[in-house]
Order: sequence, then C-alpha cells, then structure tokens
Amino acid sequence: MPDDAGLQALREAARLSPDNLPLRQHLAGQLLAKGYLADAEAEFRAALVLSPGNPEIIAGLAEAFVRQSAYGEALAALEPLLAEPGYPPEIGVLAARALAGEGDLARAAYRYFEAISRDPSLADPEFAARLNPPSQPQTPPQPQPSAQPSAQPQTPPYAAPQPVAQTPNGPATAFTATPAASYGQPMVNPRPGSPPEPESNAEVQQAGLTFADVAGMESVKEALRIKLLLPIQQPDLFAAFGKRAGGGVLLYGPPGAGKTHLARAAAGELGAAFINVGLADILDMYIGSSERNLHATFDMARRNRPCVLFFDEVDALAARRSDMRQAHTRQLVNQFLAELDGVDQNANEGVLVLAATNAPWYVDAAFRRPGRLDQPVFVPPPDAAARAAILRILCRDKPLAEMDFDAVAKVTEHFVGADLKGLVDRAVEAKLQQSISAGRPIPLTTADLLAAAKTVRPTAVREWMATARNYVMHANDSGAWDELMPWVKGKW
Ligand code: ADP
Repeated sequence: MPDDAGLQALREAARLSPDNLPLRQHLAGQLLAKGYLADAEAEFRAALVLSPGNPEIIAGLAEAFVRQSAYGEALAALEPLLAEPGYPPEIGVLAARALAGEGDLARAAYRYFEAISRDPSLADPEFAARLNPPSQPQTPPQPQPSAQPSAQPQTPPYAAPQPVAQTPNGPATAFTATPAASYGQPMVNPRPGSPPEPESNAEVQQAGLTFADVAGMESVKEALRIKLLLPIQQPDLFAAFGKRAGGGVLLYGPPGAGKTHLARAAAGELGAAFINVGLADILDMYIGSSERNLHATFDMARRNRPCVLFFDEVDALAARRSDMRQAHTRQLVNQFLAELDGVDQNANEGVLVLAATNAPWYVDAAFRRPGRLDQPVFVPPPDAAARAAILRILCRDKPLAEMDFDAVAKVTEHFVGADLKGLVDRAVEAKLQQSISAGRPIPLTTADLLAAAKTVRPTAVREWMATARNYVMHANDSGAWDELMPWVKGKW
C-alpha cells in the first residue's frame, strides 16, 4: 500500500464506493502516475471488471504492464483495441513500446510511426531512435520528430500516406519501411538520396497490344477512350472543362471475357507502360506488409507514368469493409483508397488505374466515389459477331484455309474470349500433330474449329449471370448495376 496521504484517501473512498467507476479509474491513474505500478495494475483490473472493454482503462492497464516489463501481457490487453480501425494513437504507441520490449522492432516501428502520424504530439525521439539502430550501415542519421506538428512531419510507413516531396528519383519519404521480403528485420530510415523505396513485386511491361487486338466490345472501348485516353491525348480540351487525367475504371464481368486483355490494350493504345498486379504481388501474411506492397506498387506506377496500373481480382483487395472480421484487412482497403486519392491532386497524374473483378458487388462502395474507380464498365460476354471477330484475331497468325468464323461463332453460344482461345489452342494442337506426321504445315480449317468446339465446354457465364441476376434484382438500391439489367434478363 503506497505511503501517500492523498492516495490513501482516494483508496479509502474507493473501498467505500467500490462500484464508482470514475473514482476507481482516477485512483488507478494516480497510482500509475506516481509509479506504484503493481497497485495501479490491480486497480485498472478492478475498473475493467466494472467497465469491460473500456479503452482508457485497457490503455492504463497496458501501460502498467509495459512499465513492469510485462510486454506479453500488455500486448494481450491491447490486442482487442488494435483490432479496431481508428484505434486511439496512444494505444498504437503503447503497443509499439510493448513490441519493442519483446524485440520486435519492425512491428514496433510500424505501430509507432502510424500512431504519431495521427498524433504528432506523441512523438518520442528517444524511442524512435531505438527503432532505427544506428548500427545499420546504410542508415543516415534519423531526423528527430518534434513534439509538435512540424512543417515536415514524419511520414508513417504506409498506413496513412502524408504529403511527400517529389525528387527526380521519385517521391522522397522521411520514413520508409523495408521490403516485405525482409519483414521482421529492423526498419531503416532512409532520406532523399539514399535508396529509399521498397520494391514492388509487380513488373513494368510493354503492353504489346492495342484496341485493334480487341475484337468487338465497341462500347467498352469507347468508354475507356473517353475516360482514359482522351484526357491524355487532348489535355487542353479536358482542362478547359476542369477535368484532369487520372482516376480509374472498374472493369467487371464474367471470367475470361477479356478484362485483362482490354486493360493491356488500353495501355498500348496510349503508349503507356503496363503494370499487371496480381493478388500475390500484394497480399502478405504479415500485418502491414500488404499495405506496404500496395504503396510500393503505386509508387512504381508513379515513377513510370504514363502507365496503366492494372489490378486483377480487385475484389480481394477492395472488399466491402463491412464484411471483414479482421481489422488489418480493413487497413488494406483504407490504404488502397488513400493511394487512389493520392497525397495531392497531382500525385496520380498519368497513372491510370484499371481494376478487374468478376464480383463487383463485393467491392466497397467507397471505391466508386469520384476520382477513384468511379466508373464501373461492364465487359460483357461476346455476342455472335464478337465471337467471330475474336476467333479471327486468335487465328490471324496461323496457316489458314478459307474460314467461316461466323459458323464457328454460331455453335459457341455462351463462350467467352478465354473459352475461344482454348478452342483455337486445341484445334491448333491437333493440326500440329497432323502437320508433323505429314512433314508439312497443313492449314487450319473451319471444320477443325467446329470439331474443337465440341470438346470445349464454355466456362462460367451462365452461373455468373445467375449470380448477377440476384444482385441486380435484389441488391441494387444504389442503381449501381442498372447496366446489367438487360443482360441478366436475357436467356442464359
Ligand atoms: P478476364 O481478364 O476477363 O478473365 P482475359 O482478358 O484474361 O479475361 O481473356 C482471356 C483471353 O481471351 C485473352 O488472353 C485473349 O486472348 C482472349 N480474349 C478475350 N476477349 C478478347 C477480345 N475481345 N478480343 C480478342 N481476344 C480476346
């Protein structure tokens, strides 16, 4: 029992009024402030019984643990709070201290910098120095975060991007984390001039296709032209209307209908680089690493503008936050939204984000706001004329006899581009066998394609339309899926 008259009085009052929560909390706080850590811990525990889950009490209890070097207990106490999005920054700093106490400097740094990006008054230069050991040979001296918000705030790892100064080598950040691959190592803190950026796993490619390689889909191509291409090709006209290049388009439709093909062709049409981002390039089992990968990928795109940044299966990265149980997956969505918005209005200029999904109804509605993926574009299954055109493109570099692509189109109802590609591949394989036996190239015929069509089953268009019909009929309050209405009413 502390030998302090004021505390004794408080303690006595709490004994007489054990259910008085504010009183017990006050007592616990006083004990903590005066360094009676074990007593403080006991009082916070008692207060927590009166008010389970109370974040202030949990924070107090965790601080009592940290100051007693009981880091594991502190983290266990904080865990439920950290799982909530937008947890108080004080909680983040406490978690950072506990993590650092356990020797997990990388995660400690993540929590610490994320927290002080939200409340710079929590900055603690001494603690920050511990997170960036000077023994790192490539680490320049670390800028000391000030106690007050300064003109050059510390940039958090990636959870909440801050304005950054542009350098010829790309954006310079005051704090940059290590690449995902080395997660678990202490983070370094490079400054402009040092090699600052974690690398994206995605690759910058040449598109190699233009819209001439995309059969049919005239209205889809037109929508992309207006949204993506004209602002870059005719910037003055767009500027006159107060519009700027950038922003994104959500391509949606059944699998295999040509979304990726279209995105690549849009890049080629524009003479832009193409960055094809798959889930494996972003998703990482470690908390925070996926956000970092996403940021690195956007930064790579910004360094390679003009470019088309294409996200396949985007519903996995941009799912409705309301459906998520894990707070850290919500963080990835928040990060994605922040990247799309950019740190300032020029940040994403010349970066055209195309995203594709078979399940647009799972994408968080926040992505449809202006400047983000604000224009959903339906990529439909091809009609007969489009199927014939796709077949023509798929066969154009093969030895051909006189072809009747319309006849093949007629027997391939419900086939999408990917199915037609499978059909042509199969016919070509058979022809190759024959050519090898004959010792000369035997041209492909309509009959070969018709025969192959019998062996290939169309993929999931019918099932996709059935699912889409459910959403359009029963979950279309915002009218987001109106464009699908005539399609789902058709016969599939
Ligand atoms: P998705 O991304 O919608 O799943 P893809 O773009 O991967 O579908 O399409 C699969 C393949 O089908 C493409 O690689 C391309 O060869 C072919 N394809 C699809 N649509 C077209 C089209 N309109 N014109 C030419 N080829 C197409």
